[in-house]
Amino acid sequence: MSGRTAVAILGATGMVGQRAIALLASDPEFEVTEVAASGNSVGKRYADACTWRTEYPLPKKIENKTITPITEVSAPYVISALPSDVAASVEPLLAEQGHFVFSNASAFRMEENVPLLIPEINIEHISLTDLQKTKGRIITNPNCAAVFICAALRPLQGLGKIESVHITTLQAISGAGYPGASSYDILGNIVPYISTEEEKIVAETKRILGTPNEAIDFPVTAFCTRVPVLHGHTAAIQVRFTNELSAEIVKERFQDLTDSQPEFYCYIKRESGPQPARDLSWDDQRAYIGRIKQGDDPNTVALLAMGHNLVRGAAGAAIANMRAYVSRRSQ
Ligand code: NAP
Repeated sequence: MSGRTAVAILGATGMVGQRAIALLASDPEFEVTEVAASGNSVGKRYADACTWRTEYPLPKKIENKTITPITEVSAPYVISALPSDVAASVEPLLAEQGHFVFSNASAFRMEENVPLLIPEINIEHISLTDLQKTKGRIITNPNCAAVFICAALRPLQGLGKIESVHITTLQAISGAGYPGASSYDILGNIVPYISTEEEKIVAETKRILGTPNEAIDFPVTAFCTRVPVLHGHTAAIQVRFTNELSAEIVKERFQDLTDSQPEFYCYIKRESGPQPARDLSWDDQRAYIGRIKQGDDPNTVALLAMGHNLVRGAAGAAIANMRAYVSRRSQ
């Protein structure tokens, strides 16, 4: 035994599941001991069932593991990268059995007693787990674009009273899982609609930026598009305040955050940034902020937020939540 805490990955063959395996490959605290997927994959060797699409090589310890059914895992900690409809029935079952489930799926993100957590932004929401009646618990991470949008908006809440927010996203193809959109649909194109994405971004942003029991009340409007980028979601955000706010103050705020929390914030000063293909590494956990500028009136500030949808937007977010939960349990 390695002494590390055992973790099972549900949906282990998918885009998010693979990334979780890669991110935990040499983790000092957690070890992936079980890989679970659909009935089509159960019983197969992992390397045979999975189309490995992650830049990090498939870990030797994982390739020969046999895929198990999602309801038969034994590890105490579970990262769920299941389709939402499957997660809706399986995650509560696992929590009943005593598992601690860190979910990428949207099924329980808006559930009253389930935290929708970004530890660097709303750690106080973790207290909602105390209200869950099961032996185990469910904690969710946000939609893969919402996490970067909230990283941009949270510091602005401290700089004035936000009146309204307008967001346009440019989302990568890996955000739709594997194989995702057909090349015929996405190459040389922009698809101006992602089913249910705009509703999720609006509702989740409001929940994350509020208190554990009350969402924020300013209007958020989102427009979501899919673009021919492999990994990395970008959001162009315009924020209108009830007060005047200089873009220079916002720049200083994100520079301070980059200095004090370099593992989460990266403010890019150059006018041509941030760019997914240029700035992101395969395991990048950071929220990139850039192009901060004044709007056409003194009350409006515009900026870009960008990050790796499969890392801080998904697998890395579930891992960050798992670390936050373990740390709270040990206090
Ligand atoms: P994906 O590439 O399509 O992978 C889906 C995974 O779920 C595969 O391992 C698949 O196993 C398994 N699965 C499918 N149907 C199943 C069933 N009936 N029973 C058990 N397992 C089943 O999807 P993904 O992009 O990794 O997304 C996984 C989840 O994370 C989704 O809820 C998604 O909305 C969410 N999410 C994704 C992203 C992203 O950027 N991609 C970001 C945030 C959240 P088989 O290989 O055996 O079919």
